[in-house]
Amino acid sequence: MTGGNRGIGLAVARAFAAAGDRVAVTHRSGQAPEGLLGVRADVTDTAAVDAAFAQVEAAHGPVEVLVANAGVTRDQLLLRMSDEDFATVVDTNLAGAFRCARRASKGMIRLRRGRIVLVSSVNALSGAAGQANYAASKAGLVGMARSVARELGGRGITTNVVAPGFVETDMTAVLAEDVRAKALAAIPAARFGTVEDVAAAVLFLASPAAGYVNGAVLPVDGGLGMGH
Ligand code: NDP
Repeated sequence: MTGGNRGIGLAVARAFAAAGDRVAVTHRSGQAPEGLLGVRADVTDTAAVDAAFAQVEAAHGPVEVLVANAGVTRDQLLLRMSDEDFATVVDTNLAGAFRCARRASKGMIRLRRGRIVLVSSVNALSGAAGQANYAASKAGLVGMARSVARELGGRGITTNVVAPGFVETDMTAVLAEDVRAKALAAIPAARFGTVEDVAAAVLFLASPAAGYVNGAVLPVDGGLGMGH
């Protein structure tokens, strides 16, 4: 579980732990969440990702489920978006998930089973003004997941994507009130998502019940994207 110290990542980690799984979370800053194994890693740093996996494997054994959740936004209109705004978001959200999936697949191939879940966004496929960088990174996850699903599907490994809509976390707390009101008006479920909504979908994709679900994009958005 990357980015497991707060928000969606922490809720997913807690849900796995409540289901009896051994859970490890990566955290870039701050402290490891209480009661969970925490390893420090910045997903933009390949060596740090590899070292984090080695630490987790030493403590818990091979990683059977990877949830690539770490993500950032640097919203800006296209004309004003800097190269750095673009590169940081793609390096974290897309290349970060790639680094983790590549490292996780090593052990999964040996085990001949595994679950890779990438956390994308409703905006991956619908786009959003001010999010050319973010939407590109999140759409990239879909192509990546489907490629990995084709490569590893025969080894008992599934690779899927969850695409949350508007979920109440630090990431959305910074949005202006009019943006929030507009978003709410567009959601058929007439409420924002909770971190638990997303955790339930991730747990399903990691469960034996989802063994034949591969290369899928599961929206968790109250109908906002209408399945794209
Ligand atoms: P938060 O901003 O609450 O948390 C983001 C997490 O990612 C933090 O744990 C953060 O660590 C970690 N992170 C960021 N950059 C890095 C990095 N370079 N290396 C390691 N960890 C990093 O976000 P959410 O919980 O809301 O979002 C989680 C995921 O869900 C993201 O991928 C986001 O894009 C996606 N998402 C969120 C939606 C929402 O409405 N909230 C909607 C759709 C998708 P740190 O604490 O150190 O900053």
